[in-house]
Amino acid sequence: MTDEFDLIRRHFAGLTPAGEDVLRGPGDDCAFLRPPPDRDLAVSIDTLVEDIHFPATTAPGDIGWKALACGLSDLAAAGARPGWCLLSLTCPAADEAWLAAFADGFGALARREGISLAGGDMSRGGLSITVQVAGYVERGRGLTRTGAQPGDGVFLSGWPGRAAAGLARSLASTGQPDDPLIKALDRPQPRTRLGLELAGAGVSACIDVSDGLAADLGHILTASEVGAEVEATALPIAPELAAAGSRAQVREWLLGGGDDYELCFTGPYDLDIEGLAEAGGIAVTRIGRITAGGGLQLVEAEGGRSTLADTVGYRHFSS
Ligand code: ADP
Ligand code: MG
Repeated sequence: MTDEFDLIRRHFAGLTPAGEDVLRGPGDDCAFLRPPPDRDLAVSIDTLVEDIHFPATTAPGDIGWKALACGLSDLAAAGARPGWCLLSLTCPAADEAWLAAFADGFGALARREGISLAGGDMSRGGLSITVQVAGYVERGRGLTRTGAQPGDGVFLSGWPGRAAAGLARSLASTGQPDDPLIKALDRPQPRTRLGLELAGAGVSACIDVSDGLAADLGHILTASEVGAEVEATALPIAPELAAAGSRAQVREWLLGGGDDYELCFTGPYDLDIEGLAEAGGIAVTRIGRITAGGGLQLVEAEGGRSTLADTVGYRHFSS
């Protein structure tokens, strides 16, 4: 009989780097951790539920990758260096092939990002994955959503909107296996390196784009009690996204689509974005500026403007 202890040993032991801060990992009632001195601990927890956060057709390796990527993206938005994580896995059956593939995706990202799996839990039930992550920032240097000032620039990493377009393709079963839009959905890249650079770059507020650019920038504006003007012509649109739908559809994906896990941040208007992009390993674009109020305004090339409601993004409990 295979019990959960065998499963854990077989699929999760030795999967991730050991971690200097993890004195004892999985196997005991508690893991023991020794954080580096003079650091603040940044922690976050996320749950992915089948058919809510990913389609039931998602490959197990992609689910494993994504479950960890969400948490790593939160650490990136805080400017934190990944340390350790806990994984709570609820699945309908002890399916060895499924678990092996899940662990493969989870482990690949964990090794690349240097995060150590310190423990977890496993039980039977509808497919649901909870990952808690922890990382470290220099004392008092963690990034938050509060602190954007009128006159600051608004910046964005990468080319968001691609995951939403990938989801549309994936649900319509029209995607090819190496479709970059579906890759953006299934294997999001947490912007860890960029986040670490931001912590020392004088950035005033930061968030990861998990629910859509308008909604997530909206969270910065609410927390910081400011407004923003975003210039439509400055928005970075990946060629493959531009080619995937009408102009209106592309704009909806870009402003309202979640799951890209890019970083949106504010800071000095003339921030060295080339330097940041070079050090952070991902393009950075200035898309607008922070204003004293007025909500989130989208300014068109001809000067026309519209106010974006912060309800564009995904909400679990809205009617
Ligand atoms: P307990 O009964 O004390 O809750 P568990 O049976 O849940 O213990 O877990 C036994 C050990 O295996 C613990 O150290 C726990 O951290 C680890 N563990 C359980 N599930 C996982 C998992 N999915 N990944 C990594 N470690 C796990
Ligand atoms: Mg347990």
